[in-house]
Amino acid sequence: MTRFRLITTWLLLLIPTLLLGIGALYLLKGEEDRLERSARATARDRISAIAGNIDLAVAEVKDGLVETLRGLPQGGILRQTDLLEDWKRGNPLVRNVFVWEGGRGLRYPDPEMPSSDEEADFIRRYLPLFADQAAWQAPPDDSRGAASEDMASSILLERRELRQLAKQAPIASEASADRAAAPGAGLAGAPGAGLAGAAIGASGWRPWFADNRLHLLGWYETDGGSRRIGFEVEMMALLSRLLGNFPPDAPYGETIALIDGNGDIFHQVGPLEISADSRPLAAASVASLPHWMVTAYPNADGGRSGTGFLLISSLLVGTFVVAILLGGSLLLWQAHRNQVDARQKTSFVSNVSHELKTPLTTIRMYAEMLGEKRIEDAGRQQSYLRTIIRESQRLTRLVNNVLDFSRLEQGRKAFAKEEIALPSLLHELLDSQQVRLEDAGMQLIREVDAAVAPIESDRDALEQIVLNLVDNAIKYAAEGKSLTVELQQQKGGPVVRFKDDGPGIPAGHRGRIFDKFHRVDASLTARQQGSGLGLSIARQLAEGLGGSLSFCPNTGGGCCFELTLPARSDR
Ligand code: ADP
Repeated sequence: MTRFRLITTWLLLLIPTLLLGIGALYLLKGEEDRLERSARATARDRISAIAGNIDLAVAEVKDGLVETLRGLPQGGILRQTDLLEDWKRGNPLVRNVFVWEGGRGLRYPDPEMPSSDEEADFIRRYLPLFADQAAWQAPPDDSRGAASEDMASSILLERRELRQLAKQAPIASEASADRAAAPGAGLAGAPGAGLAGAAIGASGWRPWFADNRLHLLGWYETDGGSRRIGFEVEMMALLSRLLGNFPPDAPYGETIALIDGNGDIFHQVGPLEISADSRPLAAASVASLPHWMVTAYPNADGGRSGTGFLLISSLLVGTFVVAILLGGSLLLWQAHRNQVDARQKTSFVSNVSHELKTPLTTIRMYAEMLGEKRIEDAGRQQSYLRTIIRESQRLTRLVNNVLDFSRLEQGRKAFAKEEIALPSLLHELLDSQQVRLEDAGMQLIREVDAAVAPIESDRDALEQIVLNLVDNAIKYAAEGKSLTVELQQQKGGPVVRFKDDGPGIPAGHRGRIFDKFHRVDASLTARQQGSGLGLSIARQLAEGLGGSLSFCPNTGGGCCFELTLPARSDR
């Protein structure tokens, strides 16, 4: 597979996979937005319900209080204030009571002589109202608030009607019917309905802001609208009773809070530490408590479904994309390796055939000439015979290499170990190569330490390693003119180095020259023929003997191959 085809195939895998991943992420993002929106809508519904319930509860309290107030017996102002005071003392929802008259201002408590600090404070708080400088009915806070208040009061109206219907007594006679329709029987606040004999008019509510806090004032008109009897609600008592409208536990991943007009948290369910930076999920104003809000916040731990959903699904998509790319790349790499192997085997077969052909041709040619007795000169005859012997030895080495290779590949190579005196074996082997080296114009330098201890090894394998390394020096480094063979004793065992002054091995090939079939110049037209097996076999044999064979660049620029062998273990 050419590099171009490899890259194209990989791109064909990469681009659709990435498109798939991006598409999936896009869809997941849309799904996350949808989840986020539905979570917001649910939170909005939930807090609107809480705000609505609070409104309803406040409206019921307001309604109840005004109804009770209307139900108090009428009379002179003194008797009335006594009754109002009794009522205040007995009802925790009432903080202050008052009587106000048009034109005369506040009649009770006496603005000149308040009986307590609380009364003095009450008069001070509502001074503009009692001086008729402020409207007794507050305009609705906003359209939304007004709508929700309208809804609360219409629900309330229905409840009141039902209550009245349930209380309805049997119609006995006209007189008793009249009696039944009298005190408190009409709808509170409805025009015309009122206590017996008293001309009771409209009623009203006034949210009032003083000392940075919200207060609620309720009243009704009597005496043809000239007198207003009213009360101030005890806000803490009211608010603490409203908290029952909150769920006891926060919904998953959310914190819900009731926030007052100053932005302070009055009550919350849920673990979030709410600060000015907290971004609310949804908010609903409480119409009956102007500027108060019920607000839902997502918890900081990312408990909201959307965030976790996108994170986990992105991780899954990422894993799929990586798995597809890794799997695809692995298959491509495998296909590439198979192709390289197939190509190497083909080139190995042609290289070996080529290498076999050259000595065979030479041997045949010289043998034919000698056989036809065309050469009469005895010297030349000897030279031809030497060539035939040399070439047949080359053939033997080549065939031995191929056989060793196949045995090593199949794991069938057996080593026959015996005690070997390495210095004498090395001299023996080098002696046999001396003539070849000289013929190639190379000088053989021996630096063999005769004191190197004997080892346990396989003679044939060692010979094969040495011959392969000498062969390479003759093939590739002849122009360097010398081959130095060193033998030293080292701590772990003997070390043999083969150093030449040839061209060396280009840096890019050094890591691969021990790979099977790898040649620096792999073309059939290479200056030196070879199969790319010599070094690979030599290393495998060295390792099979318990040692190693490695490349070490020669300081002179040529090659240095280092063969280490294990010392004989003491038995
Ligand atoms: P072959 O000699 O059959 O090609 P080898 O495995 O013996 O296979 O060698 C691998 C490659 O290493 C050779 O093709 C050659 O390019 C390079 N090589 C080996 N020995 C030497 C050396 N002494 N000097 C320069 N190059 C060498």
